[in-house]
Amino acid sequence: MDMSKMDKLVSLCKRRGFIFQSSEIYGGLNGFWDYGPLGVELKRNIKEAWWQDMVRNPPPGPDGQEISMVGVDCSIIMNPKVWVASGHVGEFADKMVDCNKCRRRFRADKVFLLRAPAVSGSEHITLAFEANSALEAGKLAQADIERLFNRRKISTNIPEVVTALDAPNDWKRPCPAEGCDGDLTEPRQFNLMFQTYVGAVQSQENIAYLRPETAQGIFVNFPNVLDSSRLKLPFGIAQIGKAFRNEINPRNFTFRSREFEQMEIEFFCHPSHSMSWYEYWRDLRKSWYTQLGIKSDRLRPREHAKEELAHYSIGTTDIEYLFPFSEEPQELEGVAHRGAYDLTQHATHSGKDMSYFDDEAWERDKATRSTNSFKEWLKTNPPKEQVDKYRFVPHVVEPSAGADRFTLAVLCEAFAEEEVNGEVRTVMKFHPRLAPIKAAVFPLVNKDGMPEIAQKIYRNLKPHFNVFYDDAGAVGRRYRRQDEAGTPYCLTVDGQTLHDQTVTIRNRDTLQQDRAAIKDLENVIRARMA
Ligand code: ATP
Repeated sequence: MDMSKMDKLVSLCKRRGFIFQSSEIYGGLNGFWDYGPLGVELKRNIKEAWWQDMVRNPPPGPDGQEISMVGVDCSIIMNPKVWVASGHVGEFADKMVDCNKCRRRFRADKVFLLRAPAVSGSEHITLAFEANSALEAGKLAQADIERLFNRRKISTNIPEVVTALDAPNDWKRPCPAEGCDGDLTEPRQFNLMFQTYVGAVQSQENIAYLRPETAQGIFVNFPNVLDSSRLKLPFGIAQIGKAFRNEINPRNFTFRSREFEQMEIEFFCHPSHSMSWYEYWRDLRKSWYTQLGIKSDRLRPREHAKEELAHYSIGTTDIEYLFPFSEEPQELEGVAHRGAYDLTQHATHSGKDMSYFDDEAWERDKATRSTNSFKEWLKTNPPKEQVDKYRFVPHVVEPSAGADRFTLAVLCEAFAEEEVNGEVRTVMKFHPRLAPIKAAVFPLVNKDGMPEIAQKIYRNLKPHFNVFYDDAGAVGRRYRRQDEAGTPYCLTVDGQTLHDQTVTIRNRDTLQQDRAAIKDLENVIRARMA
């Protein structure tokens, strides 16, 4: 855990315009964030890289085949029956505990109770900490436990640990908030969906929800996409969009927010091929992060154990990243094999057919049948496995990523402080594809015709890349400003430019400078960014 790195990063994000607190002049709103001029470019680049690499140009499938991918952009508010079918109305709830004194509310599975036998008086002494795991809670409690043990208040320094969710009835449940001596309630369900009303009347019938995930928009449009695009299985439908969850404890900067963006794919395939597609997406999604500069030792795929899986899921892998605010890697993306669960749920609740008819297989086998009409053929009572060969509910593999979580991982990964010539520089080492500004153009001094040449270079590059012009202050200060913005290249017009029409190109990471002809700059930058 490196909280000082996190504090520095949060302050750089505000100072340089990556991320601001939402409605900051009114004191902000917990769990809501705004992206500033640099942040919006970074997040756009992330979403565009995802769309380009997953939707427009995905790599070949497990057998080297072309992959069909299309996109949708669905409404945030949908018919509330969608959320009944998906289970979100009934189940999308965390168990919460409330403090009877400070009134704070906590997720019951994130409060850890550490209990050791008391040497005198009450039977046990119980401490409470809010943490992501028993290990983290143990670390947070270590000093307190040692002190109690050394003062002979408890008889062992190895406490029993359970979460407030699992604590037996006879355990004390102290509030984990610092300085509060209140007690926690029993765990209670709390639905995470934001509720609103559609239309003028605020009645039960008009209740609607802000979507807590983008996936359901894809599922309910499966028949529309199928009918309108003539796609054949296997194929994927992708969506990038906002999702809303009334998280109890928004925390760790943008990591857990109440409004965030998801980048989700539902990949539909024949049940018999679903395992190899699951493995394909799991491996592809991990390598995508590595390609964009996330070091593989901070990135880890974590396969869910059987007990962790949702009842319909055949397999799930979380792709996790070790953020500086945590002892253990945290989820960036979940890749889930969801079987036929979602389409079946929507078929049941809507009464609409969500199955797929494999007309290629049907045509291929036509010599084996007396009729070419599927309806007529069904009347001959063919065995179920024969019918399923032609008409079935596809299986789904879902890689579900968070655009804001990945943006935060990119910021954490890029942040570095380095000593250069006895001075510490802060530099954001973004992958050039993600960098908000690709190149900055400077005149070395504001005279001798240098600003005019630099402005011309800037104008010529602007249609091709996000470039920035800066003529304010010493050139060293300008380099530092671009280091903090994560700009991979700085182009400087100097005395030599006036003689040979070349400029210096300074590399953000190596600090090396070389020269390139002005007329070649577009190609040179493009080649270096590749
Ligand atoms: P967590 O366990 O962290 O709450 P989750 O398992 O509920 O996440 P999913 O429902 O699988 O998350 O959502 C898919 C992705 O959406 C997550 O991997 C994450 O990147 C992103 N995401 C989910 N909740 C949030 C949130 N509150 N803030 C930011 N991103 C989120």
